Order: sequence, then structure tokens, then C-alpha cells
Amino acid sequence: MPPFERPTQLLVAGEFRDAADGATFTTHNPATTEVVAEVAKAGAADLDAALTAAARAREARTWASVPATDRGKVLRRVADLVREHVEDLAGLEVADAGHVIGDARWEAGAVADVFDYYAGAANKHLGSVVPTRDPGLGIVSKVPVGVCGLIVPWNFPMMIASWKLAPALACGNPVVLKPASLTPLSALALGRILLEAGVPPAVVSVLPGPGATVGDALVGDPRVDKVSFTGDSTTGAGIMRRAADHMTRVSLELGGKSAAIVFADADLDAATEAIPYSVFENAGQDCCARSRLLVERSVYDEVVERVARRTESLTVGDPTDDATEIGPLISEGQRATTLEYLEVGRAEGAEVVCGGTSEGPGWFLRPAVVAGADNSMRIAREEIFGPVLTVIPFDDEHDAVRIANDSEYGLSGTLWTRDLGRAMRVTDAVRTGVMSVNTNTSVRYELPFGGFKRSGMGRELGLAALDHYTESRTVFYSSR
Ligand code: NDP
Repeated sequence: MPPFERPTQLLVAGEFRDAADGATFTTHNPATTEVVAEVAKAGAADLDAALTAAARAREARTWASVPATDRGKVLRRVADLVREHVEDLAGLEVADAGHVIGDARWEAGAVADVFDYYAGAANKHLGSVVPTRDPGLGIVSKVPVGVCGLIVPWNFPMMIASWKLAPALACGNPVVLKPASLTPLSALALGRILLEAGVPPAVVSVLPGPGATVGDALVGDPRVDKVSFTGDSTTGAGIMRRAADHMTRVSLELGGKSAAIVFADADLDAATEAIPYSVFENAGQDCCARSRLLVERSVYDEVVERVARRTESLTVGDPTDDATEIGPLISEGQRATTLEYLEVGRAEGAEVVCGGTSEGPGWFLRPAVVAGADNSMRIAREEIFGPVLTVIPFDDEHDAVRIANDSEYGLSGTLWTRDLGRAMRVTDAVRTGVMSVNTNTSVRYELPFGGFKRSGMGRELGLAALDHYTESRTVFYSSR
């Protein structure tokens, strides 16, 4: 097994180096607040160097001209290397992002699976041959979209990077990845692995640096053909506007305020056991978090009581401990925002039934269940991105659908019921990109993932993602 490197320099067109102006920034361990690393901070000159190389590679077809089957073999080597280094990569997510070790190991395995999936998909994104009215035919082929600017958030740094890197590379594109400033380390390590697996240096850059400067410049640069962004909805809207000038393609995976809907006929043992995990995993910092719990009025008190009891039993603490279920929030600021929301909820008349207390030395917060809420409250409408579950009663199926849809977001959701007809009606009526019936599952690499409304546009994962990283080219042939 090759030794594991933990780069802290920029990766500019396959070369690890300091920022041109020597700038650096510090990352902290959310569980201890200690410094994890001093990381090179990309500036305008570094971005220019990365994009110059990427645009040159696009014109030279450096990676695009590699047969798709061979690109797939390189991606399979990426998957193998990720598997060899699961412990190392998981360790980075624990230190940098505060993920609990069990989750981080799963995430590293999921990253390998994503590269394997797109390794297999590389030579299966097929065009078509179409007979035309004039004598001859048309051939439609899928060609690489061009230079891809990939911008990822801090909540699942490595996994979300893989959702963008793997399909972009499978389709033959040069990539410039900008990780979140709070969590740059796993992206740099992935960059190292891509090179080791055989992705040509010119097509890989990883540039940690501020979103407001290097991220903004990446989106606005005419050399970039496609931007794929995951993060906050307001940031995403700004990126869409910025990209419009050069007609840069964008796909956006944004915020959520998803509902878990519990009908009285549900298996309440299964539902109340699962529900806390659907919102509190990763300390609630999950765009798919079912942060609204809608409960049929006849079982409302029982469900609140059982979910609160189960929530209180969750193990919160040291993320390096295998027994820990919930780690810290990413930053002091994220915890402060979450605490503010709990105050807002109290002021609006809701009751914090359990949790909501800070613990140190890191940025820990005990998961909170808030009852007595209605859907007009800010805690029911705004994405908190912290461990807060807002529980709202409903009267009947129509009311449940109405409340679920009364949101500017539409990313995921769960329905708990034993009635198959109701499951079909409600999953059809709720305007959301993902809906799960009697399970918390929302993301699997074989299936498209993304949202309606302010939750974004376009889909990641599955074969659907390949369309975002290719253009269709039509060529007519005359038989005359
Ligand atoms: P952002 O959406 O602002 O950041 C996500 C990524 O975009 C980061 O890499 C960031 O860089 C970059 N970025 C920021 N501004 C720009 C820009 N103008 N142009 C290009 N790239 C940019 O999220 P934050 O980290 O600032 O978190 C703010 C809030 O957003 C959180 O409190 C949470 O509520 C929500 N959020 C939601 C997520 C989701 O998946 N739904 C994910 C992350 C956050 P940098 O890190 O350097 O700022």
C-alpha cells in the first residue's frame, strides 16, 4: 500500500505547491478546538494557473481523448486507493469536520463506491443514431462539457466532492475543485489519490481558499464551462446569477427543510427509533435532515414523548470513540446560530422538550426536540443546519401534504405509514426530489439526488448526473 500523504498545499494542475503569495489559513478540530493544519490559501494567481492548465487540457483533449473504457479503469484505481486508505481518509473527516468515526469510515467507503460506479458508467453514456428525412442519418454523441468548477461545502466534504469529481472525470472533463474553508484536507487528499491513480496532472486542481474571492472568481471566469455547487440556497442563487454572464452551466444542490410525516397507522416502534437519526446525524448539518416532524394529531403526544426519549439516549461526545453517535457542530458560529434558533422557537411559543444545551470543550450541542410548533414559525421554515427537530401536528392526509409543501424547500422527506395507497398518493403529492417510505434513506449512488424549489436544480448521482458533465453533439451525414 502506498504511504498516505496528507497534503496541505494547493494542488495546481497536478502539482502541490504553496499559494503564489504565500498566504495560508488555519483549520480547527471542532471536537477540541485545536489547530488541525495550516493550509495554503489560493488567490487570483493560483486560480489563473489552474484554469489556464484546465482550459489548455480541454482544447488539447488531454483527458477527453482517453477512451472512456480507459478513463473508467483509472477511476476504478481511484476507488481501490480510497479503500486502501479508508482509515486515513476517515481520520481526516473526524479531525477537520468533526464527523464521528463510524460515519466517517462509512463515508470513505461510499466515496470508493461512487468512483466504482462512475468507473463502470464511463463507457455507458451512450449517444444515438437517428434516421433523418433527407437521405442519411444523424449521430448524437455525448461530449465532455469542458472545464468543471466544483464547489463543495463543509458538512460532507469528501463525499460531496466525490459526487462531482467522479462523474466529471468519467465524462472526460478537467476539474477545479474548491473545498470549503472549514474542511479542505480530505479534498486535497483525494486530489493526491487521483494523481496516483493516473488522472493526468493537467486536469486536476484543488484550491482551498475563500468562497467570496476564489470561489466567486471561479464561477465568473469565462474559461469555466460548468459549475456544480453544493451549499446554502442564498449562495447558490448568487452563483446562478454570476454564472449567467458567460452562460456557464450550473447545477445546484442546496438547502432543505424536509418533513418526516408520521400517520397514526405507522409502525410507531420503527418510526420513533429511526426518526432521531434522520435529523440528528452529523449533528443536524445535513441538507437532507428531516428537521420537521409532522405527526397525525391522534398520536402526536405519544410520538413526541417517544422521539424525545430516544433522542436523549443518543451518545453525544468524542467523535474518535466508536460508541459515539453525534459529534460536534462544525464551528462556534454554527452552534451559536442553532442556539439562537432555539430562543426564537421559545419566543414563538414552542417548547424545547429535550436537549439544546451546550457542552464543551468543543462545539457540542445536545440534540433538541421542539414541540408545540406550527408551520408558520421560523424554526419550521428556515434551514437551521443544527440538531433541532420541530414537531408539528396535522389532522389528515390532505393537511399533512399541505404542511409538507408549505416550504420554500423540497429536497427529501420520509413517510411513515402502513397504507400502500396512502404512500402512493402522498409521495406523489409532496413536491420534493427524494421521498422515502418507512426508511430514512435519501442518498444512494445508483439513484438521482437533488431538489425542487429552493433546494436546487439538476441531479447528482445515478446516470442522470452524466448529463450535467456532457453536451450532446449532433452530426448529420448525407448519403447522397
Ligand atoms: P456556503 O453555501 O456559503 O458555502 C459552501 C461552499 O461555497 C464553500 O466552499 C464556500 O467557500 C463556497 N462559497 C461561498 N460563497 C461563495 C461564492 N460567492 N462563490 C462561490 N463559492 C462560494 O455555506 P457556508 O459554509 O457559508 O454556510 C452557511 C450556511 O449555509 C450554513 O450555516 C448552513 O445553514 C448552510 N449550508 C447548507 C448546506 C447544504 O448542503 N444545504 C451546506 C453548507 C451550508 P468558503 O467555505 O470558503 O466560504
